[in-house]
Amino acid sequence: MKTLSSYLKGAWVCGQGKGATLHNATTEEPIAEASTEGLDMAGALDWARTVGGPALRKLSFAERGAICKKLADAIVAHRDELLLLGMANAGNTRSDAKFDVDGASATFAYYAELCKSLGDAHYLVDGEPIPLGRSSRLSGQHVLVSRVGVAVHINAFNFPAWGLAEKAATAIAAGMPFVAKPATSTALLAQRMFEVMLQSGALPDGSAQLICGSVGDLFDHLGAQDVVAFTGSSDTAAKLRGHRRVLEKGIPVNVEADSLNVAIAGPDLEPGAPTYDLFLSCVVKELTQKAGQKCTAIRRIFVKAEQVDTVVADLTDRLSQHKVGAPTLDEVTIGPLSTAQQKADALAGIAKLAQEAKIVFGGPDKLTLHGADASKGYFVMPTLLCATDGDALKAVHSHEVFGPVATVIPYRDGAHVIALAGRGEGGLVASVYSDDKQFLQEMALGLAPFHGRVCLGSEKVAGAFIPPGTVMPHLLHGGPGRAGGGTELGGTRGMLLYMQRTALQGFGPYLEGLASVGKKL
Ligand code: NAP
Repeated sequence: MKTLSSYLKGAWVCGQGKGATLHNATTEEPIAEASTEGLDMAGALDWARTVGGPALRKLSFAERGAICKKLADAIVAHRDELLLLGMANAGNTRSDAKFDVDGASATFAYYAELCKSLGDAHYLVDGEPIPLGRSSRLSGQHVLVSRVGVAVHINAFNFPAWGLAEKAATAIAAGMPFVAKPATSTALLAQRMFEVMLQSGALPDGSAQLICGSVGDLFDHLGAQDVVAFTGSSDTAAKLRGHRRVLEKGIPVNVEADSLNVAIAGPDLEPGAPTYDLFLSCVVKELTQKAGQKCTAIRRIFVKAEQVDTVVADLTDRLSQHKVGAPTLDEVTIGPLSTAQQKADALAGIAKLAQEAKIVFGGPDKLTLHGADASKGYFVMPTLLCATDGDALKAVHSHEVFGPVATVIPYRDGAHVIALAGRGEGGLVASVYSDDKQFLQEMALGLAPFHGRVCLGSEKVAGAFIPPGTVMPHLLHGGPGRAGGGTELGGTRGMLLYMQRTALQGFGPYLEGLASVGKKL
């Protein structure tokens, strides 16, 4: 069985003891082990701060972009090998594995282009000079410079490739070295992708390190210039935010956590219309892709009360065309969940939702498998529930079932559906499907306070619409409240976590000279 090593202080190293075991999600066979016991986490942070940071900060944005370009190319060159690892370890179908691995290379490629456009500058300039007196002698100017610490990246199990890449790309672009810690259960793909990145020769010494297994005492050694970017459950997020060292040193912690994402069918939708079809296909895509293990997957489907029966029938029809089973088979569209714990949590979650809403498709006792041994593997049937009274629901608005599970909920009018969506207490993405301009505008502004992203689907964009669960590097990823309050990606916006915004005050012409050498945000 493979032992997953970590890459710290310029060398591949293994921890002592047996460590955690990784499994094949279809067969439950153990496939690797990872331990970090006894590894020098303090030394790793120091190496990043003293070697990696200075090396990256010396480079212009364009030169950092060239690194991202080489990393994207290296991942593309090893694509097939990486896809197979995703299929074995994370239970991905080939299509799901592509979503993860191609998402990783595409994000590096995007930041490569963005950095190229930022040119020879080393820092960003925020806004215009601000006169501070009657004349322009004394003025103010905001600038953003790289933090001189290390970025700690902690990722969830569901995107071992993309999760590592999206945080790494923004940190490199901003000039900050990183230590990445993928979730242990799916670290096989993350570790190999990191190895491929290193072998590209693009990464300056100290700019990138990898922890496979627990973080050990790493948090005890964080310093005031360091940053943490975390993706995972709100329980872990709360622990990390409350870590003594994080509190004492005022260390920024960016959190991407749980979310009960909504899809809203407009009251104008007619069965057979392109926008209605778009709504159905987005809902089914988000329920089934990666077996629903996406932070951006649709969990609550809002439909006008009188349309509920039609929508349930149409969704049921489409879901019944999907096949659950061995992710290596071409006809299978839904693989297993990634771990035994995820399966147990998803089944418990369905039971919880079923106390408030009726199961209308799937359910724990309806599993039909294709090409897989039913006594093994972490399979969950796609499950659709339907509620009758959205206001009376509690678990449906608060409990994220991290699997192929969603609930249809009736609404009365625009104000009602906005209030119901808000019961999720903050989400990553909402999507609305309507050809009524007034309704779309009401939804866009009404949903915005509760969501990091709002996707407006209509006939005008039906042919080009990107399903809401797809995170784009150009646009912000993150959401308020339950979703963690974080912001990742979104071009330069994602880089701001790794940079200090400072107000400079002084002689106007001096500041203008300084601003002219930076790149305007
Ligand atoms: P998790 O248990 O919180 O684990 C997330 C990461 O935190 C893993 O790398 C885990 O490492 C690490 N971790 C756990 N305890 C830690 C500690 N005390 N100190 C430092 N690191 C620690 O979450 P999960 O089960 O992997 O992920 C599922 C959740 O993530 C879902 O609720 C989902 O909504 C959320 N999610 C959010 C997004 C988003 O972008 N908003 C994306 C994906 C998932 P080990 O694996 O070694 O335990």
